[in-house]
Amino acid sequence: MYDLNERVSYLQGLLDGLDIADDSKEGKAISVIADILEEVAYVISDLIEAQRQLEEYIDCIDDDLADLEDEVYLGDFVEVECPKCGEPVEIDASLFDDPDAIIICPECSETFSPEDVDWVTCYCELDDDEWDDDDDEWDDDEWDD
Ligand SMILES: [Zn+2]
Repeated sequence: MYDLNERVSYLQGLLDGLDIADDSKEGKAISVIADILEEVAYVISDLIEAQRQLEEYIDCIDDDLADLEDEVYLGDFVEVECPKCGEPVEIDASLFDDPDAIIICPECSETFSPEDVDWVTCYCELDDDEWDDDDDEWDDDEWDD
């Protein structure tokens, strides 16, 4: 990107070289135009710098948000279907190791245990190698209602 301030300075140098009489109408108008251009160039430079700082700041926020999302969402959560109301419910995977765990559905407020979960309709994201090779059949079942 070219430097607007440098180009305005160059223009002012050219105008100085023209030896336009400052007290002529043309001289006054050109002088005012050059001043305005100089001011506009400075304002734009400031805006570009402010924009750059904002972008850096947003990048930082974005990184922090991604870290936070990793903390919150990428813990070992699985999504299962509530056996009472059928709504999808996200559950900490460690609960399934506890036979006495009680899960409260946030949708219907009913309770159920990990044993009540119908794993055929579970659409948790398991690694590919945990599924049979026939992924298409799985996809069909997912939407079969
Ligand atoms: Zn429910």
